[in-house]
Amino acid sequence: MAVITGAGSGIGQAIALKFAAHGASIRILDVNPDSASVTREQICRNGGDASVHVCDVTDQSQVKGVLGELFGRERVHILVNNAGVSHVGTVESTTEADFDRLVRVNIKGFYNCMHAIAPHMRDNGGGVILNMASIAGSTGLADRFAYSMTKGAVIAMTYSVARDFLAHNIRCNCISPARVHTPFVDDYLKKNYPGREAEMFGKLAKAQPIGRMAEPGEVASLALFLCSDEASFITGADYPLDGGFFNLRG
Ligand code: NAD
Repeated sequence: MAVITGAGSGIGQAIALKFAAHGASIRILDVNPDSASVTREQICRNGGDASVHVCDVTDQSQVKGVLGELFGRERVHILVNNAGVSHVGTVESTTEADFDRLVRVNIKGFYNCMHAIAPHMRDNGGGVILNMASIAGSTGLADRFAYSMTKGAVIAMTYSVARDFLAHNIRCNCISPARVHTPFVDDYLKKNYPGREAEMFGKLAKAQPIGRMAEPGEVASLALFLCSDEASFITGADYPLDGGFFNLRG
């Protein structure tokens, strides 16, 4: 069974659909029950098993409550920490409220889920944790001060958990995508560049040397591999999925 946070939309939804297509039961933790239900219905229509658990991952008592109930019924083999929020701004323009919000969702939310699940996995023979980081976590992107800070923390938490649970058969990795075409991107363009969405979409697409954004399904394919036994020798790694962003910009 796989717990996936933020699977009501974008990358998380693609991961849930891909994992379900490969036979995994899916438990979706999302703050938005409407979009999470769309994912669940799609999985069930295709003959899979999925349920929605309304949960704000920033709230440790909610996370403990929802996961504790699941632990009483079944074993969690996989956690995909995916629920995240974005933010545009420099250190100067980022407000305290935005800084705190990004920390709560993108760092504390990931910690809350790993904090609750790691002991369960350890006591049940092991498991796999996959965290959704970003290229922003290890490179200097313009106007992404708070977001980059949180994704750097995700990468560091990944290494730490992988190290501490090595002996307990828990593998922990992260994926660092460049830009992925999700509602996240469309909403950003609508809000920040009204009337110029197509032009700006083209610019963002070209930021990847490969000339386009990734599709959510492409992230899901790497997630499926990293969470499978095919990746049994891989732990403590940050996998770029970047269309050549890191190495081919010359
Ligand atoms: P999205 O906005 O489409 O989906 C995010 C999901 O998380 C939604 O279902 C939302 O309801 C849920 N969510 C938000 N806050 C929550 C909370 N407090 N508790 C529970 N659920 C919550 O986003 P996406 O583009 O699919 O991004 C998913 C992840 O991938 C994020 O961690 C993001 O930082 C990362 N990422 C995205 C891109 C990109 O270009 N889209 C690139 C790199 C990394």
